[in-house]
Amino acid sequence: MTETLLTIRNLRVEVNGAEILHDISMDIAPGEVHVLMGPNGAGKSTLGNAIMGSPAYQVTGGQILLDGQDITAHGVDERSREGIFLSFQNPLEVPGITLSAFIRSALEQRTGKRVRPYEFRKMIRDKLELLQMDESYVDRDLNVGFSGGEKKKAEILQLLALQPRLAILDETDSGLDVDAVRTVSAGVHKFMEDGQHSLLIITHSTKILESLPVDRTHVLVSGQLVAEGDGTLVDQINESGFESYLA
Ligand code: ADP
Ligand code: MG
Repeated sequence: MTETLLTIRNLRVEVNGAEILHDISMDIAPGEVHVLMGPNGAGKSTLGNAIMGSPAYQVTGGQILLDGQDITAHGVDERSREGIFLSFQNPLEVPGITLSAFIRSALEQRTGKRVRPYEFRKMIRDKLELLQMDESYVDRDLNVGFSGGEKKKAEILQLLALQPRLAILDETDSGLDVDAVRTVSAGVHKFMEDGQHSLLIITHSTKILESLPVDRTHVLVSGQLVAEGDGTLVDQINESGFESYLA
């Protein structure tokens, strides 16, 4: 039996009383890269949010298990401590909290240990370098006045600092120029390097996947998983689109 990190079993999710996801099942093992594809409005972000436990998404059926433990009723904070990370499609601007304070606080919650500013700086420096971000970014208010690319890099910085067990990246590469995609991609590659972390990546492009070995591709259409395959399914869809999956 292979060990799984995340198990989604017959999941149903409603938003504002309307069922968006119908009977979703998926298994993600440690070290695996899973790609989630699907047309706009298919429910990809909804699935990411449901796994993270965002309160606006009501699970009305099925289960989410982490290490075989049912976490369906756990809140966002709890899941974050348990090692789930969601990178938002549109990261929020948070005036009054610096990027540094935000990551440090998340890190303290995740580890239960105090992180001193000096140690934090030391830890974060090589990550900033990898992401080609100037150190001054961490002293700025979270995402305030950041360009689209800088916001996405800030998300990857959080990912590298927090080292979650499962990262869900929701179109982290969309709207970025080629250089920014390469930088973000290098960050994700670094995160996956040790083979211990798992990734569920929602993307429309293959660029970010070039340096990642894809284990499984899932195709979501109208709230249902309609196809599953290996990494070649990504190329196939990029060539012929979702047409053959639409009813
Ligand atoms: P995708 O990420 O695949 O483009 P989403 O998960 O964002 O799709 O959305 C799936 C469907 O759920 C859409 O029809 C969208 O309008 C609806 N939906 C998602 N979030 C909300 C929300 N907070 N309120 C109302 N409808 C929502
Ligand atoms: Mg989306």
